[in-house]
Amino acid sequence: MKCIFCGCEESKVLDSRNTDELNAIRRRRECVKCGKRFTTYETIETTPILVIKSDNSRQLFSREKIMNGLVKACEKRPVTSQDMEDIVNKVERMVHNHTTQEVKSSEIGEIVMNELKKIDEVAYVRFASVYKRFKDIDNFVDFLHEFENAIKRN
Ligand SMILES: [Zn+2]
Repeated sequence: MKCIFCGCEESKVLDSRNTDELNAIRRRRECVKCGKRFTTYETIETTPILVIKSDNSRQLFSREKIMNGLVKACEKRPVTSQDMEDIVNKVERMVHNHTTQEVKSSEIGEIVMNELKKIDEVAYVRFASVYKRFKDIDNFVDFLHEFENAIKRN
């Protein structure tokens, strides 16, 4: 495992533990060369899961994509990286417990939205605005109201 800071290939493991949500081992490492610390996750390799998008095209499920969406939605909001990681873990668990190898992107979006809503409404609306296709005007107006209320509260 290369150090992300200096590229050195040797690091020592400071701490190793199972994560609660994932079937993964989290390792805190320290680079032997530059002394900086980073975290790695060791997970079980599973069959690739495909995400069905709204236009029916398929895309490989990716934790990173969901995490990136969350980071964007939570920019300058009081949502911790641990909160975000918990949400992604929840999605991943659902995806792997799914009866088929394909999951609708809307199912993923719903989980993320439900979880975000509990934590931060502004982040929730930001995320939702990307995921939801505003199919009718009422839907859209409801969203605007929610968004306004969220801003007033913050
Ligand atoms: Zn290093």
